[in-house]
Amino acid sequence: MRCIFCKNDSANSKSVEHIIPESLGNKNNILPKGVVCDNCNSYFGSKIEKAVLEMPYFKSLRGRIMIENKKGKIPSVSGFTKSKDIIEINFSPKGDNIIEVIYNDEKTLNTILNSNELFVPVIPEPPRNNINVSKFLGLIALEAFAQRVSSIENWQDDFIQNNSLDELRNFVRYGKGYAIWPYHIRRIDSENQIDYCKESNSYSEKLNEYDFLIPEISSMDNGIHQVDNLYFVLGIMGIEYSINLTNAGLDRYFSWLSENNNKSILQMEKYELHNNINI
Ligand SMILES: [Zn+2]
Repeated sequence: MRCIFCKNDSANSKSVEHIIPESLGNKNNILPKGVVCDNCNSYFGSKIEKAVLEMPYFKSLRGRIMIENKKGKIPSVSGFTKSKDIIEINFSPKGDNIIEVIYNDEKTLNTILNSNELFVPVIPEPPRNNINVSKFLGLIALEAFAQRVSSIENWQDDFIQNNSLDELRNFVRYGKGYAIWPYHIRRIDSENQIDYCKESNSYSEKLNEYDFLIPEISSMDNGIHQVDNLYFVLGIMGIEYSINLTNAGLDRYFSWLSENNNKSILQMEKYELHNNINI
């Protein structure tokens, strides 16, 4: 068994790989051990996912919508008082209106008690031109694609030998080839996609979803369909992220969007995707 990123022997690897990090609410989408080797798994966790999850947008998002990380902890949200003292706020996961405010000194506490006001800046979206976000999306795209084809016999060998994925693989794993791999971000829905149910004291979550888009098959080579552009489209908390798996470009995605009234494939019914190919 070989790793789908570094292609080294992964028979003794022990870790399963979460396609979307647990800290963004993913509990179910997992690649079994050996698909991604322990070395790659630990590199992705410590270098790419950590860098992204600690970004102000993602940290504040995780705190606001109260997603526990794998240690069961919800990050605090940074805010400030009327006299601009910095505070940290923890929202209650119980769905009540109680918040915990962590302050540094008596003066800050007095300001809070006197003014009765706290300010929590909301960062609306992640950065649009950031190497870690681009590696993060490329990583999720490759893993989601691996999961999508994993019911096919011998898929792992085919996936490793598929050199149309090598450029993205090398960029994500080794930072090779490109300063940044382009991606596209836009808001398609409201952020709050968690419904709290009082009766059962639980949440129904619509945290993340994804799909693939192939605008067209461009040629046949020895009876095998050639795909020039394979786009991965991911929704996290109302934001759509798009990235190309087969080359570092989004031109065909933008033209597909304009042909389709800028609809997101995540919000289209399957029958509307008449150009798309099931993979
Ligand atoms: Zn590996």
